[in-house]
Amino acid sequence: MAGGSTPMMQQYFALKEQAGDCLLFYRMGDFFELFFDDAKTAAAVLDIALTSRGENNGEPVPMCGVPVHAADSYLARLIRAGCRVAIAEQVETPAEAKARGGSKALVAREIVRFVTAGTLTEDALLESRRANVLAALAPLRDAVGIAAIDISTGEMTLESVGAQAVAAALSRIGPAEVVVPEGFDDAPDGSIARPRNAFAADAGEARLKSLHGVATLDAFGAFDRAHLAAAGGLIAYLDHVGRGSLPLVLPPRLRDAGGHLAMDEATRASLEVTVTSGGTRKGSLIDCIDRCLTGAGARLLAEDLSAPLADAGAIRERLAAVQWLHADALLREDLRRALRSLPDLGRALGRIVAGRGGPRDLGQLRDGLNEARALHETLAGTDGLPALVARLLPRLAGHGALVELLTRALVPAPPTERGSGGFIAEGYDAALDELRVIARNGRRAIAALEAKYRADTGIASLKIKHNGVLGYFVEVAARHADALMAPESGFTHRQTMKDAVRFNALALHEEASRIAEAGGRALVAEDAHFEELVAAAVAAREAIAATAQALARIDVTASQAERAAEGGWTLPDVREDTVLDVRGGRHPVVEAALAAGGERFVANDCTLSPADRLWLIGGPNMGGKSTFLRQNALIVLLAQAGGFVPADSARIGVVDRLFSRVGASDNLARGRSTFMVEMVETAAILSQASERSFVILDEVGRGTSTYDGLALAWAVAEAVHENLRCRCLFATHYHELSRLAESCEALSLHHARAREWKGDLVLLHELADGPADRSYGLAVARLAGLPKPVIARARTILDKLEKGRAQTGGLGAGLGDLPLFAAAAEAAEEACDTLRETLRDLDVDALSPREALDLLYTLKREADA
Ligand code: ATP
Repeated sequence: MAGGSTPMMQQYFALKEQAGDCLLFYRMGDFFELFFDDAKTAAAVLDIALTSRGENNGEPVPMCGVPVHAADSYLARLIRAGCRVAIAEQVETPAEAKARGGSKALVAREIVRFVTAGTLTEDALLESRRANVLAALAPLRDAVGIAAIDISTGEMTLESVGAQAVAAALSRIGPAEVVVPEGFDDAPDGSIARPRNAFAADAGEARLKSLHGVATLDAFGAFDRAHLAAAGGLIAYLDHVGRGSLPLVLPPRLRDAGGHLAMDEATRASLEVTVTSGGTRKGSLIDCIDRCLTGAGARLLAEDLSAPLADAGAIRERLAAVQWLHADALLREDLRRALRSLPDLGRALGRIVAGRGGPRDLGQLRDGLNEARALHETLAGTDGLPALVARLLPRLAGHGALVELLTRALVPAPPTERGSGGFIAEGYDAALDELRVIARNGRRAIAALEAKYRADTGIASLKIKHNGVLGYFVEVAARHADALMAPESGFTHRQTMKDAVRFNALALHEEASRIAEAGGRALVAEDAHFEELVAAAVAAREAIAATAQALARIDVTASQAERAAEGGWTLPDVREDTVLDVRGGRHPVVEAALAAGGERFVANDCTLSPADRLWLIGGPNMGGKSTFLRQNALIVLLAQAGGFVPADSARIGVVDRLFSRVGASDNLARGRSTFMVEMVETAAILSQASERSFVILDEVGRGTSTYDGLALAWAVAEAVHENLRCRCLFATHYHELSRLAESCEALSLHHARAREWKGDLVLLHELADGPADRSYGLAVARLAGLPKPVIARARTILDKLEKGRAQTGGLGAGLGDLPLFAAAAEAAEEACDTLRETLRDLDVDALSPREALDLLYTLKREADA
């Protein structure tokens, strides 16, 4: 391949081979260049010009490039488009290359890191309110280990689940990138396959131990082989991506499955917990309740909602803290004021440990830790702290020495980049101060020289300027240049521009050298201080991370209290039983949407208990059944996440698993409205739900023919009642199911109320006891604007169906005998009805002659058809 290639192209090909399927960003001066197919891909994604550069084997080489200083935003777009990028930097200067290999030597380049969706730390590439998680799966014989890390903060969790539960776990974790061992058949779509030997449990264990400097992992948790194998695979991938330099990896937390409310992927999707079915955060549950003031708080709240608790004690502990801040609005406002100005401590630490931090990140540590200390003082002086907060309290303080060091060392607002110095405060280092004095005096001396040269030459417009190439120089307008050209003038010519000529002078040169030397030494000194400060922060990383997490928990607690106060929500009474008693419950998202349009949400009760645990809910379409089902699921979810709930009162027996299923016909938005999916999901409930579970079933059985669907819905409802014995809300259009009440003693009938008022349907959105009297489907259809003839025809069919049913008395009987498209006479009678109706509604005087003629034509056409 390289036969007809330049040395540069040969170097490129070698790097590209290491980059594999990542796009290669090849550093050339101030640009990252991409070549060949990489260039085509990037140009298309980034919408930048595709050009070409030279030839390779006689073919022009496609090329595009992005400026280095703006690379972050381009990277962000490429990552979002699903690309991964390898960054090849110049690892020596052109001068070094020349010294090494002569004038033609190529600057050496190396891949310094890979940028992938799961391994970002740059602020610009991350969303502040969303965790960015990398996950690794390690399938062993009897379990799959899952390691997950948000490398922007270093938080790592390990868990192991059965093979069938991997999808649910991943939907909870929501990873940006998943790594699996090569040859893993059940790897999720889009996952990255890595060599199998990286996923060895022993190596994983050794790696964790050395990383955290411990002889045993016992202090972190009792990890099994699946955990350790996954951790090994994860860390090996981080190693690969960072080319040997690891980001912040905090000691792993063991996730205990029993402690959490289990939800599968379909349930999460249907409840729109963190994203809507349309894929946006806006409109989701979290969007509706998030009042966090920090990114870290918002990320923790998302975690709380994704994995609510299932332990009544732990839930009550969170609730007590929320209640405390709910009751004390002044204290809450104080805390929130402090939180508002809090930097993202965890992510600043993440960048610093990853070696990608700058002075600004150190400044954020200083400010964040300082703020934490102030919060500590506020809280320590408060009576009656709830247990949760009392436990967090010590983590807020204890950084005195580090804060003091950073405060002394840094200027108030340090720059993002360390390269040009200027971030170490005056008074921190006497030698540095002296160098700065020299530089300052030098600059003063140069100003004095400028005045002197003006006086000497009599050129009032003479200036001393500075630029990166020439350093300091004297500049005069071209018309004055002759005087300075003379050898005895003491000036030496440097450069002739269009309108100006530039000179050097001995005194200037000496002064400039002094400044440059002092400046250079100052930069070296600042750099050394930067490294010391980074080392001090890195040494305290676990304590800083603990502070960041404590602040996030306080933010979440205050957010929950704030949201509750805003919406008039109530403290749920959480118990260890199987009651669900919600009075005046509301759907938070629908309520907020209605309120925005000035409409009121109708609150409804839901009172499930062992004796009355399955509610069958009928009523018209659009009557509010789905809303009612979901609001109760959301109330359980919110309560177990540790928040107040939108209701007048709520008593909640802790739920172990929450299931939400929407019948295929209702599920179009998810783009997988197949009956198969509906049944697969229903099967999962029937095999997994326990007596402590809560199940909502919305129109299950609708995705197939009437008889099949009815029969399935019937059987499912029976199974839920007899076998699972869990709490369940079941919305259905099948009237026939109401007969289940005769045989199932813990099943009761309810319906969403509606009324027909002067021929129009009024939906009350109010739940009432008893079966629905009828389904109002035709009325809803009319509301929706279905053409009158169609409605009329449907009414005729419905009458016949109902007559048939009345005669045989059976389930939906009569369907088979209905002559749906019967005799011509019947059709004619139908057409007459329509004609009569049309004429009755007609205002003849309002018609123009033309309209009258058009109408005649229409009627004629209909009659002919
Ligand atoms: P379908 O059977 O067609 O699925 P449904 O009975 O499930 O209908 P929903 O989808 O729950 O009806 O509700 C339809 C609309 O009615 C909602 O989008 C909402 O705007 C409104 N609505 C539902 N419940 C209430 C309520 N309790 N108070 C006020 N408006 C409500």
